[in-house]
Amino acid sequence: MILRQSHIERITLYYKHNLSKCFYASVKFTDTCKHFEFALQNYLTLIDIRDDGYNKKDYQYINGKYTVSSNTGFRKLFLKYKIEYEGNILVLPPDTIFPIVEDIGYPIQYVLYLFDENNELYINLPPDKGKKRTFYHLYDLALISESLIGTLDILMENENVYLSDHISKLYSNINIKIVSVLQKFAILYKKLTGLTLSVRIISLKDINILGVSYPNLIILNETLLKYPITMLYTYMIHELIHQFLGIKIRFTGSGRWFLLESITEYLQCVFVKLIGGNSLFDIMLKKCEELYRSNFDASKKISISEYNENNNEREYLGLICGKGVLVIDMFIEKYGCNEKTLKNITLDLLNFKDGVTIVDFEGILIKYYGDGVKEFFKKWIYTADIDIGSEFFLLERRKSV
Ligand SMILES: [Zn+2]
Repeated sequence: MILRQSHIERITLYYKHNLSKCFYASVKFTDTCKHFEFALQNYLTLIDIRDDGYNKKDYQYINGKYTVSSNTGFRKLFLKYKIEYEGNILVLPPDTIFPIVEDIGYPIQYVLYLFDENNELYINLPPDKGKKRTFYHLYDLALISESLIGTLDILMENENVYLSDHISKLYSNINIKIVSVLQKFAILYKKLTGLTLSVRIISLKDINILGVSYPNLIILNETLLKYPITMLYTYMIHELIHQFLGIKIRFTGSGRWFLLESITEYLQCVFVKLIGGNSLFDIMLKKCEELYRSNFDASKKISISEYNENNNEREYLGLICGKGVLVIDMFIEKYGCNEKTLKNITLDLLNFKDGVTIVDFEGILIKYYGDGVKEFFKKWIYTADIDIGSEFFLLERRKSV
């Protein structure tokens, strides 16, 4: 059980790069706190904890958690810790260098002060002023040594695209105009969201993911460079869509994975269709159908909206990459979607400050397409296929297409 007697107001991290790789974090509470628990990543070692008067505090370390208690309480704690591992810094949430506190259901302000005289670190969040950066979600932060960045390095600012030499050669060798593909994306992005795209796309070696989006930053696995076409159309475009769906718009609650990944996958197919034509679109949807079919037995017990991170890979493939994408395609075939409606939907989504749930999303669609949307959601998103057999959905979909 976590005893929490006070709200954390903010956590400030001071990072001095060329001084001994030490971190200093100060945790400020809104009122007097008597008990505080936190964790540190295992490559970080705590040096000491001090209170308001800068007196050393005793602490306990049990089961990976540090605990500080005081009868008189404290308003502030200073934590000093160091990095144990050699080499360069690569911080990708949740591998955070901040003390980890439980998810406490209200936003904590995080402040990062960076003292990096050699400009060795790349940080995705722009500074407020000087060395100070403020943010509210730890998973928004990426902190990467420039020396770890691989051969992929692209900068997209408004509708301008800048490429590293290696990437420029890689794509000109296979006759793909990557600059014009990315520019097309940026123009469309602005048209539909009203926002301008500002993002750096880099590759890293030795990461256990293929692609991931942070605010203003996309990281792709260096191994994807062996497959430049897939890298561009599948991974880069996908992560670029997440700059909006996932970062500007947060999804929450049940149905989150459908909203986050199925819609992104579908839009990715639509963009590829704009570039490569209908036949490519058909191939991509056919692939979704295969995923749905081949994972049906593993995924039929739950509905699309019930899928969550505790489910397995086959359920993900079947429901989120397979059926979820096909359901969106079926919706568009049935109800249509013009640019004006799409723009209105994105504006409505931007109004949700605490995350969009599947019910919120359904509500937005009802506004533009009428009450029939309820029936559609109930049948295809809120209900599992268990009783109707694997072919039913696909047959129904064919009828509508
Ligand atoms: Zn994704």
